[in-house]
Amino acid sequence: MIPRHTADLKGEDFIPYLLSGFMSKQYKKLSMAEIWEPLLPNKVVVPTSTGRYALWYFLEIADLQEGDEVLIAGYNYYVVVRLLVQKGLKPVFVDIDPETLGMDAQDLAKKVTERSKLVVVTHMFGCPANLGDIKRVCETNNLLLFEDCAHAIGTFYQQQQVGFMGDGALFSFGMQKILNTFGGGMLVLDKTFAPRYQPDPYTRSWFASFAETLFYAGSSFFMAPGLYGWSIHPVIKYAMKQAEKGHTKLRDLITPSKDNPDYRFKIDSRAPFQPFMKKMCELQLARLADNVLSRREAVNQLKYAVKDVPAVEVLNEDKYGFYNGSYLGLYVPNPEALTDYLEQNGVFSHPHEFFDCSRLKQFADFKNHCPHAAYASDHIIRLPSYPSLRDEDINKIAMGITRFLSQ
Ligand SMILES: *Cc1c(COP(=O)(O)O)cnc(C)c1O
Repeated sequence: MIPRHTADLKGEDFIPYLLSGFMSKQYKKLSMAEIWEPLLPNKVVVPTSTGRYALWYFLEIADLQEGDEVLIAGYNYYVVVRLLVQKGLKPVFVDIDPETLGMDAQDLAKKVTERSKLVVVTHMFGCPANLGDIKRVCETNNLLLFEDCAHAIGTFYQQQQVGFMGDGALFSFGMQKILNTFGGGMLVLDKTFAPRYQPDPYTRSWFASFAETLFYAGSSFFMAPGLYGWSIHPVIKYAMKQAEKGHTKLRDLITPSKDNPDYRFKIDSRAPFQPFMKKMCELQLARLADNVLSRREAVNQLKYAVKDVPAVEVLNEDKYGFYNGSYLGLYVPNPEALTDYLEQNGVFSHPHEFFDCSRLKQFADFKNHCPHAAYASDHIIRLPSYPSLRDEDINKIAMGITRFLSQ
């Protein structure tokens, strides 16, 4: 079986976690700023519980007023939009460039008003967004810029790791992301935008945090291709069955990207960033360049193998810079049907990981017309691109796509 995502951790990556009890003194001495310095020089780095905490903290220090407008791409992770709404801000949805799934700078310029204060740009799937033009719109109109780099460690714009151009940027080290520390994330701030905010102290129980990290560590372990089929996969099947009966807890835990209108950010909902995570960052950053090259190779091989299938449309991932291969997306006529077909053949994909938030019911107050975002929402399928994919795996995926779409 080919899982849609694999943590791609090596044995050594689990050691900091397993030793965290004994090594906590040494790990506490490590500095996140130093670990990230080569990629993000001259930045202030604030470790956070998860990526969304980084956005939350940024919104707290960014001096925004209730009702201020935040320009954000329609094709997005609804949680990010939810945080804006929860803060009393007004999301204004901007259409995307269909070739990169990132914000369209021309549409951005058209949607700026007197009340606009902030632009949130996402490097969707690890494709660099059109940062130059977007930054120019921000400068002309005196807007803050925040970069969502959740998919984009190893993504470069003008030879620099993305996240350098914004006033702030979020990074995520969640289980589904290219660098995984069993939860965790960070807020990156421009030095001129020095942290004015100290996060509230945690009131969450030690045990809840321990159990949560254990859950993510265990899940990351069982996501490996040889284990997935008889461990995680049956649990997901079970969770989906339970969800059909109205018990959605387990499903929401393992499929966080489903559109959930009841989701609200709570500051104490996740384990704090822990010192062993710094060591995990260090180990995985040392392999990042190799990881990215293998992923790009997998993406290129798959795109090449399906190039003669007329129903498939590909992205132009490197249009504005250097793509990290973290997510592989293709446009297909019916992603749900293709996902089902591939699954019968042992290949797992995701037919609807992100949505056109400008059309979601939960954001009906901010409804907007973003045709390219709508098209991506209805047609993008996410396929595996992790480095341990073998040639025969890629062939199997390509054959599945070709057979289904040539029927
Ligand atoms: C995962 C993700 C986030 C948030 O990261 P968490 O660590 O889950 O809070 C933000 N934006 C995008 C696009 C993501 O995929």
